[in-house]
Amino acid sequence: MTNSLFSPEYLDARGRYRAFMDEHVYPNEAAIGREDAAALALVEELRGRAREARLWAPHVPPEAGGTGLGFLYYACLNEEIGRSTYAQLVFGCQAPDAGNAEILHLFGTDEQKDRFLRPLVAGEVRSFFSMTEPEVAGSDPTLLRTRAVREGDEWVIDGHKWFSSGADGAAFAVVFAISDPNAEPHRRGTMILVPADAPGVEVVRAVPVMGHVGRGWSTHCEVRYTGVRVPVANTLGAEGDAFRIAQKRLGPGRIHHVMRWLGQMQRAFELMCRYANEREAFGGPLAGKQTVQNWVADSAAEIQACRLLTMDAARKIDEGSEARVEVSLLKFYAARVLCDVIDRAIQVHGARGLTDETPLAVMSLMARGARIYDGPDEVHRMVVARRILRSFSDGAGWTFS
Ligand SMILES: Cc1cc2nc3c(=O)[nH]c(=O)nc-3n(C[C@H](O)[C@H](O)[C@H](O)COP(=O)(O)OP(=O)(O)OC[C@H]3O[C@@H](n4cnc5c(N)ncnc54)[C@H](O)[C@@H]3O)c2cc1C
Repeated sequence: MTNSLFSPEYLDARGRYRAFMDEHVYPNEAAIGREDAAALALVEELRGRAREARLWAPHVPPEAGGTGLGFLYYACLNEEIGRSTYAQLVFGCQAPDAGNAEILHLFGTDEQKDRFLRPLVAGEVRSFFSMTEPEVAGSDPTLLRTRAVREGDEWVIDGHKWFSSGADGAAFAVVFAISDPNAEPHRRGTMILVPADAPGVEVVRAVPVMGHVGRGWSTHCEVRYTGVRVPVANTLGAEGDAFRIAQKRLGPGRIHHVMRWLGQMQRAFELMCRYANEREAFGGPLAGKQTVQNWVADSAAEIQACRLLTMDAARKIDEGSEARVEVSLLKFYAARVLCDVIDRAIQVHGARGLTDETPLAVMSLMARGARIYDGPDEVHRMVVARRILRSFSDGAGWTFS
């Protein structure tokens, strides 16, 4: 991102993350990707180094145990951190813990912060965000069925979730449950903090995703809640606030995702350009073939468009706007560019692009989900189109600003 959006202080911090990644993250990617006991030990060692270098937990401010300096600061760093799939784990800002820490920081009581947020930010425990259910469309959360019924000072929770990322081995969940089915649709849900060892919580399995089962942080789990009892004091925010809190988590979170994707796109782009110059076929380098030149040119244009759209949305959020149209537009556009650029880079690499000799295969695996999580493309297109068309029907038209 250009200096016009990010202060010299932020860009300087980004330089320190870049240096750390060059020295400690990229050389260890293959070892971390094996997801065995040695990989876990290596991640712990690198996390210790990140703490020593004061690069730990940049998503939350020092009073919550991190090193963050606000929304734009973390957005700026994500373009660097996002270049490696594993870097967020090393710096203690991995999804879904980062988003959970942000909402605990914003909405948690002092007791909840002490019990859940402090160990989470310290990296002593992991958490999961349990909203999506296999039986109903996750795109439309008014359909969710998991119930929380109040009995005295307790919530009793019954439900069935899946795609609870990172649930394997996590210490607690943030569960989106329907607490008042008779309220208006967006006041029906409540967020509840549920310890993973509470009787009735069952992590049924890590659902294999595109052939990958994962371990711990990299799992997407099916989870059942059967008669789970937790104190009402575990309510995050107010009763009925689940939609509002989810929106607070997802809005700026989408910018953070896109910033990480920008890091991935640029890394894939660099790999594609270097290899195109190096590899020779039919009398010259691949870089001399017009198809490859088109891929380079299209990718350059699209990546730059994503960067400018991100800057625009981030600036509007920083000025206090929710930037709903800008964020949705960016989310579906950048998710497609991410998939396209990585795919072109793989194609230029031929069979090598499918191996683990480059990071492209893993990047491709992770990228496909971008068009689905935090709202599928089609839903974001719907949000953009509906708002613009409503503005026209109200007589205001639409001004690009
Ligand atoms: C990698 C990954 C990690 C995830 N992590 C988590 C997590 O930690 N916690 C959690 O709770 N969930 C998580 N999810 C789930 C994610 O939030 C849901 O997949 C998402 O909300 C979509 O819900 P769904 O899968 O039920 O799809 P559905 O809502 O069933 O939608 C299916 C398809 O229908 C189409 N569609 C839907 N609405 C419209 C529309 N209005 N117009 C046109 N077409 C439409 C779209 O093509 C969509 O892909 C994760 C998903 C992925 C892929």
